[in-house]
Amino acid sequence: MITAAIKENEIVNGYIGRLMTLNLSSNKADFLADLKTHLKDENLNSSVISLISHVSNKSVLEILRNNTIVPYRRAATQNKAFDAHEFLNPNVSDASCFRTIRPGMVLCEDCIHADLEEFDFPYWKTFHQLPGVDWCPIHNTPLRIVKKKYHDIAYETPPNAIINKSALICEYDEAPPAPNEATYRYIQLVSFFLKIRTPVKARDIVNKIGAKAREKHNINTNRVYHFQRKTLADVAKSSCKYSWLKRLVPRIDYPDQYGWIGAIDNSTRVIASAESFALALALLFDSTEEAIDFMIKDLNINAEL
Ligand SMILES: [Zn+2]
Repeated sequence: MITAAIKENEIVNGYIGRLMTLNLSSNKADFLADLKTHLKDENLNSSVISLISHVSNKSVLEILRNNTIVPYRRAATQNKAFDAHEFLNPNVSDASCFRTIRPGMVLCEDCIHADLEEFDFPYWKTFHQLPGVDWCPIHNTPLRIVKKKYHDIAYETPPNAIINKSALICEYDEAPPAPNEATYRYIQLVSFFLKIRTPVKARDIVNKIGAKAREKHNINTNRVYHFQRKTLADVAKSSCKYSWLKRLVPRIDYPDQYGWIGAIDNSTRVIASAESFALALALLFDSTEEAIDFMIKDLNINAEL
């Protein structure tokens, strides 16, 4: 059995694939069984994540924090999950560790070239797999997604070997976001969410985001109050290019009877998802640094800087 160290920001799903490639294995179940034998793991019920922890010489917690998108998924946490401390708990399920959100696997051509130069092999990155990240947070290159029908095998194949099955996420003539655009800040912020080290209560976020939205843009955060209606979704529509916003929030053109777009506006009043939280921060602050400062000072977010 040939083993290898897991890279920083390498998504654990892709790491398994890389180990399979090194060992010329094309069947994941067989490979994991071989790995178990190799590690002399006699516990019948040991989780895949504990095997990976063992083979990579990292604790389960380190893997969760650095090699999954769990910290992103827990950046705005409902009370119940918050109390479970899901990503602080090393007994977190395999399903949760390996869950991804986008409808395919995302890669950056420039990252592939840079990896080949530096390491001789490319690997799948956590920070490309987050919703709305349609350009690389490092290179600002348009990202590519491996089509859904190759979903099962994509992470088991090196990104450079499956690039011919991928398609651009954005339109071919869509310009990358400029550093002063909200979309750019959003992409930087969701990458930052991967560095959050304790789950954040969604309830605490909405109160403070709502106050900031009223103060900064005079936004009406009351869903049923009709007068002087200006919502955060209105700010999003005037600040972000429509094509990107439509991909992130497919219901952008379908407000409810009060003119409210739940997927965006709820973050000022009701409940925030990680996406709406990042979008709200990108819209309410003029720079990523200011937004991160607010997260740390006002929302008491504990992050690895
Ligand atoms: Zn890149």
